[in-house]
Amino acid sequence: MPRVELCGHISSAGYDGDMNNEMRFRFLGNTDEVTTCDCCGRSDLKATVALEDECGTVVHYGVVCAARAMKLTATEVRRGARKADDDKRRAEEAARTAAWRAEYNAFQMWLDARVAPKGDRFRQLEALGGYKAARAAYEAETAVRAA
Ligand SMILES: [Zn+2]
Repeated sequence: MPRVELCGHISSAGYDGDMNNEMRFRFLGNTDEVTTCDCCGRSDLKATVALEDECGTVVHYGVVCAARAMKLTATEVRRGARKADDDKRRAEEAARTAAWRAEYNAFQMWLDARVAPKGDRFRQLEALGGYKAARAAYEAETAVRAA
């Protein structure tokens, strides 16, 4: 059996010349922060497609070079990059929601430890002088704890 190494490089010993000998790329998304193609050096691009190879190396290719490297059509490259952008945005939203929920729960636990009835946020906040006052006390305490 041929020994297949990372990055699509195949050791000379036993290479039988079929399949899996190409560099595989994964779409990371579009970016307009890089406007020069790492493949051909064209530098007047509006945006590039960020791709990651099997070694985790990130390259920025124009659509034409990306299509050639990945053996896809330009339309498929655009679609793949757009999907990666969407996935990234969704993951970021999910992370923000999770962070918000964790923070909500942490504040609730703080309230529960101080004011009855547990879990009755409205009455707990009222007892502490309203949201602003309660939140300020909570933040002052968590800041002290974090320091
Ligand atoms: Zn190029």
